Amino acid sequence: MAGTRLHVRHKSLNFGGVKNNFIFNIAFLAGSMMAPAMSGCSGGTARSVAPAAAETNKTEMVSVPQFSADSAMSNAASQVAFGPRVPGSYAHRRCADWIGERLQAAGADTVVVQTATLDDGTPMRNILGRFNLGNKRRILLLAHYDTRPWADEDPEPANRTRPIDGANDGASGVAVLLEAARLIGSVDAPGCGVDILLVDVEDSGNSGDDDSWARGSQYFADHMPYGATEPLPEAAILLDMVGGRDARFCREMFSQQYAAPVVDAVWRAAREAGHSDRFADAIGGAVNDDHLPFLRAGIPAIDIIETTNDQTGAFNPTWHTMADNLDNLDAATLKAVGETVITYIYNKK
Ligand SMILES: [Zn+2]
Repeated sequence: MAGTRLHVRHKSLNFGGVKNNFIFNIAFLAGSMMAPAMSGCSGGTARSVAPAAAETNKTEMVSVPQFSADSAMSNAASQVAFGPRVPGSYAHRRCADWIGERLQAAGADTVVVQTATLDDGTPMRNILGRFNLGNKRRILLLAHYDTRPWADEDPEPANRTRPIDGANDGASGVAVLLEAARLIGSVDAPGCGVDILLVDVEDSGNSGDDDSWARGSQYFADHMPYGATEPLPEAAILLDMVGGRDARFCREMFSQQYAAPVVDAVWRAAREAGHSDRFADAIGGAVNDDHLPFLRAGIPAIDIIETTNDQTGAFNPTWHTMADNLDNLDAATLKAVGETVITYIYNKK
């Protein structure tokens, strides 16, 4: 990846959940990647949500299509049905094919498939569905679709070498984004361009190696498939583990530090969509996740992720365990996140 490397220290947490046991040096990019003032994009016509009174003096009606939680749950079930989506596996290839087909069917203007063999031999495939390509103002939505090859946080030692279903850690973000793709491609187009990126090889990392995580995103950030004169996305929004039971989302620490205007806009959208109970106005953990390569590349990127679970004080208790299955996926959580993202995309602030 170009330029500055993220410096991290391996130590125990003194705040929230750090996904891969990282705490970062907050000075790592000071001055080089301050997020520009950022907002959503211009809205369409017609019905429903008016911006919060505190944000504007005029009432602006925008068209916000209806997010289907059933459809999102079905998207998650389809992924789990392939089997664990471990890079290099048949299930993983089938799931990647299916994602590409779904983006196409949703009406993407183009689907870009980016393949590579990583230096340890891992095959990698990122899939990008591009909507409303004529609009140069673009928002990037992303989630990882691979699943962790080992349930290494499982309470039962015999399970710790088994692959997980990844209903929450993997399938949930993809499920929400494929439903978003369906709406963006088939209902009224939003007033901005939307790129929906499903990244690979996020979750095969080792706790002792910072760069062993988010490898599909690292590759994408190093090989962005945009035209030479095309501006970078104005913002990137990562969804990771967005289907936990009764999950509540706090402002992830890197996101807040380096892309606060985007966090503000998304949390405002949550409020407008009626999900303030799910999007707490508080700082959560710092997570080494797929948003970091985008931040390093100069794109204001945020991570919507559960890091303050009531039981664990960090991630959902199913994290990297065999219990990360469909039974523990919460349709109401998917709906809250999906409606928030759709409200963000369709509203101009
Ligand atoms: Zn994971």
